[in-house]
Amino acid sequence: MTIAISLEQQNIICNHAESTYPEECCGILLGEIVGISKTVVEVIPTINAWNKAESDELDRSKNSRYSIDPQDIFMAQKRARELHLEIIGFFHSHPDYPAVPSMCDRTQAWEIYSYPIISVINGKVSEIKSWVLDGDGIFQLEETRIRI
Ligand SMILES: [Zn+2]
Repeated sequence: MTIAISLEQQNIICNHAESTYPEECCGILLGEIVGISKTVVEVIPTINAWNKAESDELDRSKNSRYSIDPQDIFMAQKRARELHLEIIGFFHSHPDYPAVPSMCDRTQAWEIYSYPIISVINGKVSEIKSWVLDGDGIFQLEETRIRI
């Protein structure tokens, strides 16, 4: 799979990741899928709805966990339908951690979506890598193309 994204869209993601640092940011990507190519059409930054109190993992906070409010996903689905698009992926940041999926990211993932991860080191974006699950449920790096 490949994912095509414009610089402007990438900037929206990077700004969201830096402004929420040191917490993880997250958001939804709307776009089109043709064959094995995904194209991002709209970036929807969302609030990180991870709530420590509702979790049994009390040592974890928004610095290392994210969750997207089901209401935000519902609104994104509605917007996608209006624009004749679909949800093609979910992005989130890793504050002071590399752009590689965690065990937790693996358990939250579905095969059809792209999962760009933004590594933010000392408040600045250092890299973005997009991941997809293969047929064995293992994350593989997805080729990212910058769309002009
Ligand atoms: Zn993660």
